[in-house]
Amino acid sequence: MWNEFKSNLISAKIFLPEFLIFDAVFISIFAYVIEHPSGKILLIVAIIIISLLFLNLIGAKRLRELEEIKRIISNIRNNSYNAAEEIQLSNNLQGMQEEIKGMFIKARNDVDYLKRLERIRSEFLGNVSHELRTPIFSIQGYIETLLNGAISDQKVNKNFLAKANQHTINLNNLLNDLIDISMIESGEMRMSFRYFNVKEYLENTLTEMKPLADEKNIHLILEPVREKLQLFGDRNKLKQVFVNLLTNAIKYTEAGTVTVIVQEEDDFGKIIIRDTGIGIPPEDIPRIFERFFRVDKARSRSVGGTGLGLAIVKHIVEAHGSKVEVKSEPGKGSEFSFRLKK
Ligand code: ADP
Repeated sequence: MWNEFKSNLISAKIFLPEFLIFDAVFISIFAYVIEHPSGKILLIVAIIIISLLFLNLIGAKRLRELEEIKRIISNIRNNSYNAAEEIQLSNNLQGMQEEIKGMFIKARNDVDYLKRLERIRSEFLGNVSHELRTPIFSIQGYIETLLNGAISDQKVNKNFLAKANQHTINLNNLLNDLIDISMIESGEMRMSFRYFNVKEYLENTLTEMKPLADEKNIHLILEPVREKLQLFGDRNKLKQVFVNLLTNAIKYTEAGTVTVIVQEEDDFGKIIIRDTGIGIPPEDIPRIFERFFRVDKARSRSVGGTGLGLAIVKHIVEAHGSKVEVKSEPGKGSEFSFRLKK
């Protein structure tokens, strides 16, 4: 009883100055009115007792409220709540209840986000190790077979060396793409935007890509572009976008054409890369920009794909304030497009 009274008073201590002022004012007024000295003493004692009783009540209420908040916080710490709605405080603490709910939701989201990041990071590391292991094992296999005698077998030795060489090229492509993606994702990609002549730029790019298309007898066509058309972007980074999209268009097309079209809109130039290739199943379209996602893993590897090309394309196009759109029909072909400011 006494202990409870004591802790209530300690809890109400923060209101003591207000009570002292209140008591002082009361005492002065009544002391002025009451003339008898013993009456004055009685009054002072009465006011002090009433104040102590009030402080006791206020302190008890304050303790109850603090206790309620403490219980909620410890429940949150012990993960006792599944949803914010389960957090309930008494009526006079509604404002506090909403704040705690907000904090609970934010902490939950932050934790979920960190967990997702961690999962993505470990998945990425798993993928990288797997992707590195495949060519390294193959190279090791060819070299061991050559060392074990195949080197003097005229029928296979060159073939094995060529295959080992192709795997080192794949390995190199993978490392370059990994460096690019880590630069982009760590925010180290510096963009340098300028206006450039699109016709000239695309003609040069297509000339560079022609040998790859010729190897597969694929027609690489640039549809007429207005002579003076200038678009705004980072020429070097866009080169990577065009090379990746054109390489894909050629890689995933058996026969036919790869066409580059520039459609002029009011404020933008829409660039379309269209092929007559194998196409992409509709259910895979939303996933092709994910790192290491391939519709057909074996096919992608056999044509030197890393599974990172479109992830890089997406980042660069988004850094230009644009978005890559994809239309595709299996067996008929695919179309990748994005816009650049005029
Ligand atoms: P990869 O190095 O495997 O080509 P990308 O990130 O460039 O990786 O592409 C991801 C996947 O999207 C490819 O493995 C392929 O399955 C599919 N893809 C991309 N471009 C085309 C295309 N033009 N035609 C058909 N499939 C494509």
